[in-house]
Amino acid sequence: MPEVLGEYLDRIVNIEMLDDNSLRRNKTELLYRAAREKQGAPLTHLAAKGLVERVKKDDYVILLSGAGISPWLEWGETDGPTGIASLARSLSFGLGARPVYVGNEKELGPVIAAGVAAGITVLDKEAVEIYKRKNTALSVPFPLGDRGAKEKALEILDEFKPSAILGVEKHAPNSVGVWHSAAGQATDPEGQPHVHHIVEEGRKRGVFTVGIGDGGNEIGYGLIREEANAIYEQSFGVSCQCGCGGGEATACATDVLISTSVSNWGAYGVSAMLAYMLEDPFILQDADTERRMVEVMAQAGAVEATYALSIPWVDGTSLEVQQAVVTMMHGVVANALRRKPVRMHEAIGDYGASRRGSK
Ligand SMILES: [Zn+2]
Repeated sequence: MPEVLGEYLDRIVNIEMLDDNSLRRNKTELLYRAAREKQGAPLTHLAAKGLVERVKKDDYVILLSGAGISPWLEWGETDGPTGIASLARSLSFGLGARPVYVGNEKELGPVIAAGVAAGITVLDKEAVEIYKRKNTALSVPFPLGDRGAKEKALEILDEFKPSAILGVEKHAPNSVGVWHSAAGQATDPEGQPHVHHIVEEGRKRGVFTVGIGDGGNEIGYGLIREEANAIYEQSFGVSCQCGCGGGEATACATDVLISTSVSNWGAYGVSAMLAYMLEDPFILQDADTERRMVEVMAQAGAVEATYALSIPWVDGTSLEVQQAVVTMMHGVVANALRRKPVRMHEAIGDYGASRRGSK
């Protein structure tokens, strides 16, 4: 049953409604199919199953986001932070985990704001370890550029010994070390936190890793790097727009890759799957909570990336669409968990019996 539910959640998170001018239009389904073929099962289910098996109470879980490009997306974009906030909530409420947000300091602002709206406060290690405060995240700024990044990644892994690492819309370099925007252009590596080292070094230590993205340039797509680059090459004649030869897809792979239409939705799909597996719909934020999460994220500076506007939209889709996605997921989870027939059904009675009686 969880696998069947994962199938429907995968479909919800892969409904594409990109702007007709977007270069990524009509790629969502192709990227999903490649990811699905490689992994052989519904992606939201694979991620949630791995988390339930690996993450124990009081374990630290590293959450990575931030697709900012200064100065256009100075405090990051709106795709990422609410996905991280949803995961912080579901992993805390559902599994008793301790989320650790890691990223560019400026981009952590919208993540923290969205997390608070989702029910997760941010305090220091003392509050979590000495006072045992639950539903509390830690926030760890990561320096920009590659210098010292690997050392910092190892330091974070040593300090928190996480049982899982998840990235949501977090860019990473390709196989020749070039970073790309969603449009396939090269971006400045010195303007990015190189947190992919946490994923790469974490995997060497056997930590469970999940990458959630919607374009190919985000952590996780290393799993289908060649397939993703081939999809771009078939569409544009080149695998990226900068001529580096390495293609837009990142080389950074994860144990599970969730390829989606909007990265936040992929994270919501994992939260919905956890809500079902742990039999508690409350684990997934409701539509009103989602509205507050998106609004405070935008107020904290995150920019809607399609139009570069400070509005509560995500990847060209309105606030109402974000709420609708969460509402559909709640419908899927609530009905799958319903053990007794609803009263309305009893009131209607047995259609078959009434027909027989009328004859
Ligand atoms: Zn390139």
